[in-house]
Amino acid sequence: MTQNVLIFTDLDGSLLDHFSYSFSQAKPLLALLKEVAVPVIPVTSKTRAELAILRCELDSHDPFVVENGAAVFIPENYFSAPPPGCVLANGLYCYQFSESREHWIALLALQETQFGGEFETFTSMGKEGIKASTGLSETAAHMANQREFSEPVRWIGSDERKQLFIHTLTQRGATVLQGGRFLHVTGACNKGKALQWLFEQYRCEAPASSFLTIAAGDSDNDVDMLNAADCAVVIRSPVHEPPKTEHPHIFLTRETGPQGWVEGVSWFLGAADRPATMDSTEYLRKKLRSLCHG
Ligand SMILES: [Mg+2]
Repeated sequence: MTQNVLIFTDLDGSLLDHFSYSFSQAKPLLALLKEVAVPVIPVTSKTRAELAILRCELDSHDPFVVENGAAVFIPENYFSAPPPGCVLANGLYCYQFSESREHWIALLALQETQFGGEFETFTSMGKEGIKASTGLSETAAHMANQREFSEPVRWIGSDERKQLFIHTLTQRGATVLQGGRFLHVTGACNKGKALQWLFEQYRCEAPASSFLTIAAGDSDNDVDMLNAADCAVVIRSPVHEPPKTEHPHIFLTRETGPQGWVEGVSWFLGAADRPATMDSTEYLRKKLRSLCHG
């Protein structure tokens, strides 16, 4: 029986450096994973538009998950049959876990009567407002605003009123995630559900194979994804405490960002057994070949 390794990864602060967004330290391992056909699947809060650029930079042709698990995208000919429940557009199959952004914008508009003046949305802020409140460049603000399944909200009112606002939206079918700067209003989705659904598609594709799933993340919104995988790589953050998980197979990295990513992923691939005399890349290549090809 062959073993298929699947790697699901958060981007910001995990595969990408928290400050510079660089992944250069992970390039040798990414190249090695590509060589042995191990998928590296981005699972991110970013939009599809933001991912389009990053996937080019990463030379990634694997599926990806956007907007905190709101939708999974799979390249058209990636699996032998069309994945169930998907819509094909522009060469990508899309499986949606959340209603569209328009649904959430309409729901938020209804809250104006009760919470008018206490919140702003990306839509009401416009590009200039998004730039001012995020510090993003013109292009980056434009990309971040290309949301399809969620609407970011800047809360201006009191903390107490915020709790009532979240409660009211939740009663009306929304999931409200607290991000660093914004509340993200979306549907019944998270990164863990997206991982499980996508994993099922890999299993259907290769029913006779066994699988090893590795997930890597640095924040609270990664916990569902970490818990849904066989192995959890918790990437240490330079700016916040590591997320808490009871996962039985967890590796908390010493390093941060892409260096931590390499440290944790390599550890689960067996790098720790390397004889001191052997080059680490060469050793991992051997390990991966025997793991993936029996
Ligand atoms: Mg992160």
